[in-house]
Amino acid sequence: MNVLKSEATAQTAALPSAPLPSLAAERTIRFVVRDDGICVLTFDRPGSSANIFDLRTLDELAQELEFIERQPELKGVIFISGKRSVFIAGLDLNLVREITSPTEARALIERGQAVMNRIAALKIPTVAAVHGAAVGGGYELCLACDYRIASPDHATKIGLPEIKIGLLPGWGGSTRLPRLIGLPKALDIILGGKTVAAKHALKLGMVDEMAPSECLVAAAVRKIKLGKPVRSNHWLTNNRLVASAVAPQVRKQILKKTRGHYPAVLQALEVVTRGISQTVAASLALEREGIVALMQTGTCHNLINVFFLQERARKRTFPAASSAEPNPVARTAVIGAGVMGAGIAQWISARKLPVILRDINTEQVAKGMATIAKLYRDGVKRHTFTAHEARAGMDRVHPAPAEVPLHRADLVIEAAVENLELKKKIFQRLDELVSPETVLATNTSALPISEMAAGTRHPERVVGLHFFNPVHRMQLVEVIAARQTAPEVIQRALKFAQQIGKLPVVVQDSPGFLVNRILMPYLIEAGNLFEAGAKVEDLDEVMLDFGMPMGPMRLLDEVGLDVSLHVAATLAAHFGDRMKVPDCLRKMTGAGFLGRKNGRGFYLHEKSKEARPNPQNSACVQSQKAREITREELQERMVFLMVNEAARCLEEQIVTDPADVDFAMIMGTGFAPFRGGPLRYTDTVGAARLVGAMNHLVASGTAHFEPCKLLAGKAASGDKFYPND
Ligand code: NAD
Repeated sequence: MNVLKSEATAQTAALPSAPLPSLAAERTIRFVVRDDGICVLTFDRPGSSANIFDLRTLDELAQELEFIERQPELKGVIFISGKRSVFIAGLDLNLVREITSPTEARALIERGQAVMNRIAALKIPTVAAVHGAAVGGGYELCLACDYRIASPDHATKIGLPEIKIGLLPGWGGSTRLPRLIGLPKALDIILGGKTVAAKHALKLGMVDEMAPSECLVAAAVRKIKLGKPVRSNHWLTNNRLVASAVAPQVRKQILKKTRGHYPAVLQALEVVTRGISQTVAASLALEREGIVALMQTGTCHNLINVFFLQERARKRTFPAASSAEPNPVARTAVIGAGVMGAGIAQWISARKLPVILRDINTEQVAKGMATIAKLYRDGVKRHTFTAHEARAGMDRVHPAPAEVPLHRADLVIEAAVENLELKKKIFQRLDELVSPETVLATNTSALPISEMAAGTRHPERVVGLHFFNPVHRMQLVEVIAARQTAPEVIQRALKFAQQIGKLPVVVQDSPGFLVNRILMPYLIEAGNLFEAGAKVEDLDEVMLDFGMPMGPMRLLDEVGLDVSLHVAATLAAHFGDRMKVPDCLRKMTGAGFLGRKNGRGFYLHEKSKEARPNPQNSACVQSQKAREITREELQERMVFLMVNEAARCLEEQIVTDPADVDFAMIMGTGFAPFRGGPLRYTDTVGAARLVGAMNHLVASGTAHFEPCKLLAGKAASGDKFYPND
């Protein structure tokens, strides 16, 4: 037989339908019945590298299922993808964005649940043959099948990440996963919003078998021949008694970790633990009502926004550059093999590009190579790389303890110590060594790039590429346009960041650029408050309460007090009293308290012990009598300064889009993602309220709270940073 089902046989689903294209070639699902009576549904969305569940795909799937239900001679169904790296990436989040009422939300969830239920109810065996990402709704389809087989490929990622966008698995995931793998393991996946590699998924029972992508169909056919499976009902864990014992404990842990800011986690816990002892239909109803409630929350709205901003960063171009796509970077060099240089070189080599790693002598280069080797070893332990990939990555790093020819390099990234005169010299020398087409980038944290560029013969090819520490974990890269940088060079740097899987934001050259510029006043204020008598642990607690991933004092210790002092001094030199370096930072650095790197900073960091406030740091506090400062005041003062500086960056056109400020702060500092970034937070609270409180502080003698013009203007006019939301 081996036929494509004709359009004429396709029945219209009972639910309201999205308009369907008339040509079979334009459909998102290809339908073939093989000679052995097994039908293969291939998800292959035209003109896209990914499959997603939009209304059209849901409708098509409903139609195919209706056809299958009416063909008793069919022997089984295989769901597979025609894409290279995606099985099905889940629900089209634009649909969630467009929802305006609980009724619409419920209709969307019911629609998906109905399709999954139909798959689950088919009388013939069904197999999901997964290659690429099967996440969210994509994995929920797998869960509705009788069997799941996955390719061991790197691209294959399986899981339910809904929590990360403020939702819960609502198309059967919260009901079917615990029934498949048992309550404890399912809670771990669902509440953690986890996606796992195929090997791990097999271990957990989330898939039944692994098969190379080219053998997936054959493996699926073998499963179909076995008939419907009989599975464990996990009676030991999946019962009311266990669920009611587990729920309060997990709830406590969640509240400790999220401080109540992420309602989806609690909601998912409730749905899973209550649903487990009910019928599938009743559990699905719980899912439905749970997710409908979550879709109305500001948290969900903000987290979905962050998701879209990440997508945007992956695809962005620099508008002023010529429309020609720049050649991808093929050969690179990194100058400086310290913390950042080694981190950058490792990341580049892991993305399959050769990289020369240069430092001043053999010892420094060897140190850098040892850092890279450790990063690869850790990556192998975490299953990020196979041992073979790690070896191949290591081989792509070419150590250079002496000057080497660089004329073949497309891009050189300077990551030597933070010293303007040194950097200027390095750039002058690089200018002589490279070819005229080579892009020269610096990873400086705060120094003026335009000055580095000025000393070269081709200042138009000098650009900033500011990676964040640790490079392998931080996705954001600031692409900094110096005064002289050519638009094509900015474009090339932007594309390079995307090429190596980072998320770029283009910013103008100004001290601290964007992220450090906004972060520094906050850290400085934490130092001021510490000097005024606030306790280290209180300063951290109030900001954890606000939703920051780490408090300011801990962050200062992590960054290093000497490094923080250096950046603060650079900014203070430029911005004056607004960013006056607190004495405590100088005194502590002078007294040898450098933070985590030497075990002593605002905290004492002892091996295998929880960090505790350093009792000696009080000696570095000004002698003035400590005043009682409320927790609310502590939090407000630190947040106000971030908000104000964020608005000021927009006012000075360091970036021109408020979304760039918010995105960079969330990705670069972990600024409470559920609040959507400092400017979105301002819109939520109201600029007038913030400005009123800031003016009050100014009146009481703290001039550095003076609201910038843009913020004061918003307060006066009632305008928002995001007027259309
Ligand atoms: P680091 O002190 O760990 O490493 C600097 C390296 O540069 C050392 O190995 C040193 O030997 C080498 N070096 C010095 N002079 C050199 C020269 N003439 N040629 C080649 N190499 C030379 O410093 P780091 O923390 O890796 O910082 C490097 C750069 O990255 C700085 O500009 C810093 O501001 C920036 N940065 C640092 C961080 C961070 O958190 N550490 C984050 C972002 C950006």
